[in-house]
Amino acid sequence: MSVLLWLVLVTAPRAPAPQAVVIATPRGETSVPVTTERGTAAVAAPRLGPPLGLTVALDGSRVTVGLSGVVFVFQLGAPFVRAGGVVYGLVGEPYVARDTVFLPLHWLADCVPRAVGGRYRWEPAPGGDTGRLVELPIASAVTATPPSTPSTAPVLPPSPASAPNPITGLRLRHGVVIDPGHGGVDPGNPGRYFPSGLVEKDITLAIGRLLRAELTRRAIVATLTRSTDTLIDLTDRGALCKAACDLFVSIHVNAMPDGRRADRVSGVETYFLSDAKTEDQQRVAQMENEAISFETGTSSAATGPLGFILRDLQVNEYLRESAQLAQLVQDSAARIHPGGDRGVQQAGFTVLTTARRPAILVETGFATNRTDGAFLASSLGQHKIASAIADGIVAYLLELERKRAVAAPARGR
Ligand SMILES: [Zn+2]
Repeated sequence: MSVLLWLVLVTAPRAPAPQAVVIATPRGETSVPVTTERGTAAVAAPRLGPPLGLTVALDGSRVTVGLSGVVFVFQLGAPFVRAGGVVYGLVGEPYVARDTVFLPLHWLADCVPRAVGGRYRWEPAPGGDTGRLVELPIASAVTATPPSTPSTAPVLPPSPASAPNPITGLRLRHGVVIDPGHGGVDPGNPGRYFPSGLVEKDITLAIGRLLRAELTRRAIVATLTRSTDTLIDLTDRGALCKAACDLFVSIHVNAMPDGRRADRVSGVETYFLSDAKTEDQQRVAQMENEAISFETGTSSAATGPLGFILRDLQVNEYLRESAQLAQLVQDSAARIHPGGDRGVQQAGFTVLTTARRPAILVETGFATNRTDGAFLASSLGQHKIASAIADGIVAYLLELERKRAVAAPARGR
């Protein structure tokens, strides 16, 4: 819980980021200044070197950091870090300034304690002007893990466990809400390279239905926000993912504005929620948020200052999970897409802010590109996309089950 509060602190516009972190080890304490020059709190990697015994190597845009036998791999400008086959979403991106690698403080406060199990603990300071990363002595690191029992029984998931599903390997029951973008009076983009008057809302519905079938085949309970050509309020779509829902996927088709490079741009990209960073990300967010102008009446979303705070909490809680879900779905979809891999992106989508679970938005290709348009309008293309998204979701749920199984023994103490 303390980590969650810290995340809110850093991302809230007026809250101060810590000015320094204290690295407390059995060998002594060191204070390392925190910089906030790029909007997110970051620490200079070389300054962490001596107190933590951390090693840093920069190779092109790739930053490799070694700490306590764990290798963290960053990409400059990307809000992720990989460690031990797990992708962690980051609040902020690593960058280089004055020949120094700066790493998001979020990595130190959240990823390090999780990735280097039992070795470090993050203690946020109540005032917010400092925080402590405590390296635990080896003895206390051992007692920090659950006491071992004579039993050699394997760790099982917390809920009634069943034999793994033969297709997916999943042991638990999972629910997914699929949101086919647009609908009714909101056609989405006009679908320049779609045949016979098809527009974005038709393609998203077709892919959404196929995705439901693919998930059902994998024994996952899948629900559509719309199964016909109707318009659902953006703010109500995400709210449909509640108790029995593990994650929310919105399906869209991208379009470039008219211009010289309009039909050259192609490929699939997956978004998770944050403030849009680049002009292109803002274009996509603006385009998909425009459906608000089609909507009438009231919606059930929380409003007012309290609503904002509640949403902010939810968004931060699921940011990390959403980033990982986005990466796994993107990796899977990019493997089958003829238009190429445009990677994981961040933008501020209204439809995602109201989801109560990890949420992503897949832009399945460009209607303004001839190849993408033909692929998305074809039955084969729609099947391939739906199947690839389903595979990415399964990869995420397997990871989720693994994490819950690891967390389960601690819960009973
Ligand atoms: Zn759309």
